Amino acid sequence: MEKNSLNSRIEALAKLMFKARYLVLFTGAGISTESGLPDFRGPDGLWTRRDKGLPPPPSAMAWHLVDPNPGHYAIVELQKIGKLKFLISQNVDNLHLKSGIRPELLAELHGNMTRLRCVRCGRTYDRASGLGACRCGGTLTSSTVDFGQPLPETDLALAFAHSKKADLFVVAGSSLVVFPAADMPAEALNAGAKLVIINRGETPFDRQAYLRFFEAIGDVLPKAVERLKVLMGPG
Ligand code: ZN
Repeated sequence: MEKNSLNSRIEALAKLMFKARYLVLFTGAGISTESGLPDFRGPDGLWTRRDKGLPPPPSAMAWHLVDPNPGHYAIVELQKIGKLKFLISQNVDNLHLKSGIRPELLAELHGNMTRLRCVRCGRTYDRASGLGACRCGGTLTSSTVDFGQPLPETDLALAFAHSKKADLFVVAGSSLVVFPAADMPAEALNAGAKLVIINRGETPFDRQAYLRFFEAIGDVLPKAVERLKVLMGPG
């Protein structure tokens, strides 16, 4: 097998995950574009369009109809076999929860479009609940975070705490340019973690990555998890 071939890197990733004691995943828009969702900063991204005064692209209007893809489900497999210690996501599309990730293993740094958040106590509610106010009396507002707004404190604190504990930090579908999200791989590296990046575009952390995939997440992560399950053996 050629040393840098996709298969040999997938094998290497499977072995890293096998050895990892504290695996943390970090996802960005790139994992959801494989479900047909637009990204935020691409030429037709949500925020690019908004800055031009344009409405969201039609696909963004039907997010509730979008389903998780094999990349999301590979992370659910990691959860099932007890390998996933924590998942940090920049996405607001609810696809990780929809795929079956347990809420206590997930920090959503930019909120979740299906949830409302209390401005007073930070508790969140399903948007579909139709509630007008929090049980503390506080006003409910969108839980998603716009540019310049503060990130949800609890999610942010959890994300930093788990990044520091990681011995393997896998980025999937983020260009790692938005702060403070981009601080998290740095925290993990400083704590001695190995960094793996699966992203089509370049990132500022490429040189520090132990393994680098420019391929689609769906062509990498599901195969690596399948190999990992073989390495772990039955039961
Ligand atoms: Zn409240």
